[in-house]
Formats: sequence, C-alpha cells, structure tokens
Amino acid sequence: MAFPTPPIAPVRNPEIKFTKLFINNEFVDSVSGKTFPTINPVNGEKIADVQEGDKADVDKAVAAAQKALEFGSPWQKMDASQRGRLLNKLANLIDRDCGYLASLECVDNGKPYAAAFFVDTQGSNTLRYYAGWADKITGQTIPVDGNYLCYTKHEPVGVCGSIIPWNFPIPMLLWKIAPALACGNSVIVKPAEQTPLTALYIASLVKEAGFPPGVVNIIPGYGPTAGAAISSHPDINKVAFTGSAEVGRIVMEAAAKSNLKRVTLELGGKSPSVIFADTNLDVAVEQAHQALFFNNGQVCAAGSRTYVQEPIYDEFVKRSAERAKHKKVGDPFEHSSELGPVVDEDQFHKVLSLIDSGIKEGAKLQCGGKRLGEKGYFIQPTVFSDVTEDMRIGKEEIFGPVQQIIKFKTLEEAIERANKTDYGLAAAIFTENINTMLAFTSRVKAGTIWVNDYNIVRDQAPFGGFKQSGFGRELGSYALHEYTEVKTVFVKTPAKM
Ligand code: NAP
Ligand code: MG
Repeated sequence: MAFPTPPIAPVRNPEIKFTKLFINNEFVDSVSGKTFPTINPVNGEKIADVQEGDKADVDKAVAAAQKALEFGSPWQKMDASQRGRLLNKLANLIDRDCGYLASLECVDNGKPYAAAFFVDTQGSNTLRYYAGWADKITGQTIPVDGNYLCYTKHEPVGVCGSIIPWNFPIPMLLWKIAPALACGNSVIVKPAEQTPLTALYIASLVKEAGFPPGVVNIIPGYGPTAGAAISSHPDINKVAFTGSAEVGRIVMEAAAKSNLKRVTLELGGKSPSVIFADTNLDVAVEQAHQALFFNNGQVCAAGSRTYVQEPIYDEFVKRSAERAKHKKVGDPFEHSSELGPVVDEDQFHKVLSLIDSGIKEGAKLQCGGKRLGEKGYFIQPTVFSDVTEDMRIGKEEIFGPVQQIIKFKTLEEAIERANKTDYGLAAAIFTENINTMLAFTSRVKAGTIWVNDYNIVRDQAPFGGFKQSGFGRELGSYALHEYTEVKTVFVKTPAKM
C-alpha cells in the first residue's frame, strides 16, 4: 500500500516518557522491581527498560478495576452518554499526539512511519465508533405469558482482561478497550512484550481524558507470567486474546480451570486469496501482493495462500516476483521504505526457518529468501511458487514477508483447497463472474470474505474467525455482545399491563 506523506513529520528519536505499569491512574513500579528491555528491530538495540508486571501486579490491577465498578463509584454511576464523551476525548488526544505515537511505534515495532500514522493511529476512530454506542445499548421489553412486566438489561460483564499482540499494537488495544468501556466495564491490558510503549503512552492519555482511576490498567510483561495471571485470575470476568492458536488454547484452558471466565479468541489464519483467470492481471498481482506484504506479512488475515488459475499462473508468478523484487525495504523513517524489519529476533529466525523448509519441501523460490543487511531483523520480500498445502509454508502461519503461490484449475477445486486448513479467518476472491463469486462466498468457511479487494476492515463491521481462527467477534455492534451480560427482570403485576 503506498501511503501519502503524513502531514506531521516523524520524530526520529522520540522521547520515551512512560515505562511503568499503569494501575489505578498512576504509573508505578512492578512489585518485583524487575524490568525488561524493549528493542528496536531496526538495529537490535535497546530502546528502554520497561517495568515487568507479573501476578502480583495483576492482582493490584484487578483490585483497582473491581473498585472502579463498585456501586456508587464514579464509573458505575456515570451517565452512559458521559462514557461516550470520555471515549471521544481519548480519541481526540490520540489524534493530537498521532505524530509522536506513530514515531514511537515506528521505533518499537519497526513498521514504516506512514503505515503507523495512517493505519495504527487511526485506531482512534474505533473509540469514536463505540463512543456513539455508549448510550444506545438497550434491552427489550418482552410480552411474556402471565401477569408480568418482563424486560432485559445489558449490564457490564465486569473486569475484562485483554492480552494483545505486537503487529498492530494501537488498534489491538483500542479494539478491545473501546467496546469494553462503552459497555461500562473496567479493563486490564497486557500489551505484547515486543511493543509496550504506545500502550503506556495511551495510558497517560486515558488519565488526561478524565477516566476515573481503575477503569483502565496497563500491565506490560511476559505472556507466561502477566498474561497467564490474567487468563487464570479468579476475579477477572472475561478475557479477550489475539495471538497464536497455541497460546489461545492455553488461555482458554486457564479460563476454564479458574473461574470459567468468558473467552474470545482471535488466532490468525492461513487465508486464501483466489484469483480467477477472468480478472485484470495487473490489478490481481498488486492486490495479492498487498494481501500478503502489508505490514510485512505480520497480519492475522494475511493472504498467505495465493491461488491462481492455470491459464494466468505462469505470468502471474513472473509479475509477482518482479513486484516483490522491487519492493523497497529499509529505514522505517524513510518515506520510500515500503517495509521495515520484522518485529524481533524470534520472528526473524522463525520466518527464515520457514523459508528454508519451503525450499527443502520442493517449493520454487522465485525471489528473496534471505536476510537483508547485517543489522536488525530485515528479510527480503520472498515469493514461492509451486506450493502445496502439505508443505509447512502452505499450512502454517508464517507472519513474515513470504508469499505462497499455488496453481488451481476449477472453481470446485478452489473452494475445496481454500477450505483445506484448520483456520478460517478470512478469504478473498478475484473474479468478474457473479456465479463464481456467489459460490465461493457461500461455501468458503471464513469470518470475512473479500470480493475483488483485500484487508478491508472497518469499525462498523464484525471481524473474527471460523474454525481454529477463534471465536467471538470484535468491532461492529457484534462486539457489544461480548462485553455485556443480559439480565432478565420479571416484575409481578396486579393484572395484564
Ligand atoms: P503469542 O505468543 O500468541 O502472543 C500473543 C500475546 O499472548 C502476547 O501478549 C504474549 O505475551 C501473550 N502470551 C504468551 N504466552 C502466554 C500465556 N501462556 N498466557 C497468556 N498470554 C500469553 O504470539 P507471538 O509469540 O507474539 O507470535 C507467535 C506467532 O503467533 C506469530 O508468528 C504468528 O503466527 C502468531 N500471531 C498471530 C497474531 C494475530 O493477530 N492473530 C498476532 C501475533 C502473532 P508475550 O508478550 O510474552 O509474547
Ligand atoms: Mg520493541
């Protein structure tokens, strides 16, 4: 995706203002006194030491979050419309500081400044969308049998835990806290260990916006300690997780074994992008390229299986390799850089080893395949053809700049192979034929299907997975169900009223 030059210039060395845990509207040290380094993936150097939260800190945050919900507390008695105003205020503060926030993400995550500016900080719109919902979350009056007035109320679930990944740190944070707060819950968020800085800065904006203490708590730390303390906490009422399927299973098990807290999971995918021969070749090559390479392939919905119909396959492969070869990878602060490094050393090695497995298992390497430069975690944009679904690169989530191109002949075959995965997050089809489009959209099992486009995600529309891509939906009015309990009230009446 080519972004215009952002209207606000980046700050190359943004001052790191917040590195402590945010509990009860205060920045505090961790109980253990431990810290962990957050690293700039451009050079592998430390940006800052961040306080490392674990169970003891999560316990403190839970106590604050419970207190915030107590009967008569400022948050509990606040008008719903006022909650909406606070969400709008937070959105305005994020917009005010979007140049700084995008610069911070650029340093912490390695994504190009323009992408951080135009995609990540635009997460403020998610707050605005849910701000509008705050005073429109209504129940029903139900004409039940007998002499009763029966109505439902949608009440907050309670203390909501969120465990989030590093690929879109700001939107992932806001996708979770915006609906939770609109519904009147309190939240405890564990950002990914790779990218804690923007969440902590946003914590300072939460306080500036005027949210009462304890409503939002941010606990940076590691998954097996801070994350596990959230998913297994007896007084957290819901956990929302985005990340790998492997950790999703652990979170669900911990939730079941502790207090049966509600769980929603968004676990990535191996999404098919299916290109029929009747489509415009140039457009399809570019769309399939962006479907995979957007955010360096570090996207849960990345189009990581590109199916191309036989008559255009050879030409498609040639043009896709040319496109990838000319992709500019480099300093995220240079506007010409289309991609930066992958997020950290673990991802770097994981992606390179999956590339090796692709070569060994017989896929044809069309371009790329190696590290780029000597410092940092840069990887050449890589294109494989002749991929099959039994290869590791054909079935595992790579989460890196590696495109898999696969040949197919018929619509039936395309549908069958698109579904040949344990995942079901997203899928796309490129065709001019309405019957082909209708068959595909009705028979492919995925939470989102794009027709002649890719990666379209909107605050108003739900997002989530079928099969092992998880369950529950984020965004849209659907997410409100995940953050409310329905209470049914029967009032005995003297007669039919
Ligand atoms: P991950 O381990 O699933 O991490 C996601 C979040 O879960 C992080 O905040 C992580 O903490 C936390 N976590 C880890 N272990 C936990 C545990 N035992 N209990 C509770 N929380 C825990 O993902 P990753 O290691 O960052 O990336 C690995 C792979 O996951 C990627 O290659 C990609 O395939 C997939 N992934 C998917 C998405 C997505 O959007 N669906 C996003 C990121 C990654 P830490 O900060 O300690 O890691
Ligand atoms: Mg970092």
